[in-house]
Amino acid sequence: MLEAKYAALKAGFGGEQQLDKVFENYTFSMKYRVLHDLSLRSSTHFQIDTLFITPSYAVIFEVKNIAGELKVVKNPPQLIRKLDNGEVKGFNSPITQLQSNCELLQDWFHSKNVSLPIYGAIVLAYSKQRIELFDTKTPFLFPNAVPTYIRSLPIETPLLDDVAFTGVAHELVASHREFIPNPICLTYPEIKNKIITGVACPSCGFLGMQKYMKGWRCAACDRTSIDAHKQAIRDWFLLYGGKMMNKDCREFLHIERQSATRILQSMNLRTEGANRNRTYSLFK
Ligand SMILES: [Zn+2]
Repeated sequence: MLEAKYAALKAGFGGEQQLDKVFENYTFSMKYRVLHDLSLRSSTHFQIDTLFITPSYAVIFEVKNIAGELKVVKNPPQLIRKLDNGEVKGFNSPITQLQSNCELLQDWFHSKNVSLPIYGAIVLAYSKQRIELFDTKTPFLFPNAVPTYIRSLPIETPLLDDVAFTGVAHELVASHREFIPNPICLTYPEIKNKIITGVACPSCGFLGMQKYMKGWRCAACDRTSIDAHKQAIRDWFLLYGGKMMNKDCREFLHIERQSATRILQSMNLRTEGANRNRTYSLFK
């Protein structure tokens, strides 16, 4: 189940790279900025795959790369995917997702006193994608049609002057927050007792590196690492979430109390409580 989810995320990332390539190869005559993987908050958290912003308008590009035959239906709004083996699965409609992102970005602009029309388009990463649509105003494009789509948008007199435009672009970048997903054990409680613990070897992936004076040694490939614990601590928070205690660190990294204390204090974590009750958490 997790592997399938990972494969879907990786496919999504590969799809976004197809659109990135288009923006690397084209230039446009107006002033513009292209921002990738923007993670913002207005009334709620939202993520934009690609934002194309000019002094006259902004365009949200939502990139989709889903294997199989797709059908987008109107009521209820849904994306239905049929695999070659006959398996059928429903997803949220990309149209609804795009509309919601347009509204959330509009709210975000509003909170910064920016007034710009926002357009949205769905980009299907690969032109071999088979898709069936209902009659919708939302454009569905393959990456190579994106420049033409942009050129077709009406260019009004710029609504932002140079200073305001640069300001908005900076503010968008500055407001970006790395998205920390819900801990995996919260989403899938049934895996909690099945997690294999130990520090992973950065060279070969073996779990359970041994602590020695200056760092970590791998029993599988015999390589060493000074800071393999950093990824292990990060993994713990992504897996379990919440607050880490010295005992959690000891059990997860297979180390003694003093080493755990030293490691936790070196990690720039938020601490609460004292002595044995001390907890550590990620800054958000
Ligand atoms: Zn190794």
